[in-house]
Amino acid sequence: MSAEIIDGKAFAAEMRARVAQEVARLRDDHGLRPGLAVVLVGEDPASEVYVRNKGRQTLEAGMKSVEHKLDAATSQDDLLALIAQLNADASIHGILVQLPLPDHIDSDLVINAIAPEKDVDGFHILNVGLLGTGQKAMVPCTPLGCLMLLRARLGDLSGRNAVVLGRSNIVGKPMANLLLRDSCTVTVAHSRTRDLQEVCRRADILVAAVGRPQMVTGEWIRPGATVIDVGINRIPAPERGAGKHRLVGDVDFDSAAQVAGAITPVPGGVGPMTIACLLANTLTACCRIHGLPEPE
Ligand code: NDP
Repeated sequence: MSAEIIDGKAFAAEMRARVAQEVARLRDDHGLRPGLAVVLVGEDPASEVYVRNKGRQTLEAGMKSVEHKLDAATSQDDLLALIAQLNADASIHGILVQLPLPDHIDSDLVINAIAPEKDVDGFHILNVGLLGTGQKAMVPCTPLGCLMLLRARLGDLSGRNAVVLGRSNIVGKPMANLLLRDSCTVTVAHSRTRDLQEVCRRADILVAAVGRPQMVTGEWIRPGATVIDVGINRIPAPERGAGKHRLVGDVDFDSAAQVAGAITPVPGGVGPMTIACLLANTLTACCRIHGLPEPE
């Protein structure tokens, strides 16, 4: 193995510690406490784990954490009423609605009902537009975490060839916008891309967000490239015992690590950065709402 392992877990822990310091400073200097409300509709086990982790880490950073767990049959109107209530709540600075929502609810409508300044996921149409036009936006947490890891590893990103594999609204597209903002030459690849392997092999920076376990192998990677694996896939692991599973990324770590210059592991790469960025966004939202300088 030749690649450097990018330790997202350690980086995220440092970031959370910095956020906690700023939260303490806000309390001491201004008597403020950032508050994050997470709304979960239905009982998706994976979402429940995320929500639990988010709540725990929010409290550990010294922030207020509120969880609203709603029944899967909750009506769209009731959900919108809750969002309106949270928008008006001065103790709440960040609102996150855990996706996916049940089919009878229009996700776009709900996300766009969140006050843009409290939209810590950065999915509101206003924040999407601000990011797309290079203005000050609330930036989606997962791509923001990827960008931080890339800057930490590579420094200035300008002029680098970046390939983003995946074009979802929550990862691929905002990732492409962030890399463009940092002056990379960006290619966005997806399920209709021709010669996908060749396209990926041109990348100095390869961000994989496809949701296909271990799809990207070493042959897809340019020697020395920096590989960011966003994928979180649960696959059977009979070697661990009957019925056991393990998490893998969209990149085949073992073959990719032979070729790449640096690579994020799964777990322990992008995943922990997502929650750290959520805390950072909540802190930023609190500062902006109160007209205070934003932390670096
Ligand atoms: P989506 O399913 O919304 O998007 C997947 C994208 O990959 C689509 O653009 C799709 O193309 C493309 N794609 C799918 N199959 C192929 C293929 N065979 N070849 C080329 N492109 C393909 O997924 P998300 O963006 O929401 O998530 C991607 C991965 O990241 C998942 O594993 C998810 O679990 C993980 N994730 C991790 C997070 C974290 O915190 N680490 C947070 C969010 C997601 P097309 O548009 O043409 O259909």
